[in-house]
Amino acid sequence: MKPITRRSALATIGLGSAYLMTRAFVPAKPGKTHIITLSYDDGFEKSSIRTAEIYEKYGLSAAINVIASAHEKQFELPNEYHAWPVGDFKLWNDLQSRGHEIMPHGYNHSNLGELPLEDAQQLVNKCLDIFSRQLDGFKAENAVFNFPYNASNKEIEDWLKTKVRVIRTGGPAVNPLPFRGQFRLTCISHGPENIDRHLEEQINQFLEGPPGWFIYNTHGLDEEGWGPVSSVFLDELLDRLGGLESVEVLSVTQCLNQIKNILP
Ligand SMILES: [Zn+2]
Repeated sequence: MKPITRRSALATIGLGSAYLMTRAFVPAKPGKTHIITLSYDDGFEKSSIRTAEIYEKYGLSAAINVIASAHEKQFELPNEYHAWPVGDFKLWNDLQSRGHEIMPHGYNHSNLGELPLEDAQQLVNKCLDIFSRQLDGFKAENAVFNFPYNASNKEIEDWLKTKVRVIRTGGPAVNPLPFRGQFRLTCISHGPENIDRHLEEQINQFLEGPPGWFIYNTHGLDEEGWGPVSSVFLDELLDRLGGLESVEVLSVTQCLNQIKNILP
């Protein structure tokens, strides 16, 4: 495991300058060539509160994706990795008002990539309806729809273009820096055991490569959920990343909102 060092950050800046000569993508903030988004799924109560606290320590906005009906009594757990108390919209509104991003992660965590299109559409509509009614200021057209299991198919993706701003599904962790018209974001995830080592290795690899937007789908903290990250590790990681000149840790919306600063 290679630690993120000052030296690798400098090497990254070198690569970034060369890449920028091609004018492919221009970072909104000069020198910020490597954007990192950790995208937290499933909305466990304790983990979400702690994640938000850790992000706030560094002035950052966490991206928390929640299952629209998970807080309701009749909710059926999709599998054993959901067996922890989840937050409700009172908590989501509170975290949002503190600057965090709260986004949909399905109505009941069904695998939308495997369902007939009409069934998948119905579940997405139910999910977006609950968000519209319960999350302050929520507008579907500004939403990031985070597919459960990162599972989708072309039909449901195409239909979602008429509904939400962007989707997050499975694929390469490194996305292009934000550009107008970007709709399909891809990410990796890891589990079911602790992800600290995997996450660190993937971030180190990303920082050694060309500019881009790295999206890693995380879940709960410590003992909660599928593929949890340790809270102590997360705290140290954000601290270290904050010290790298070429790196910026952003929520999905924060990153997308840089587009207006980049292009005329
Ligand atoms: Zn999930």
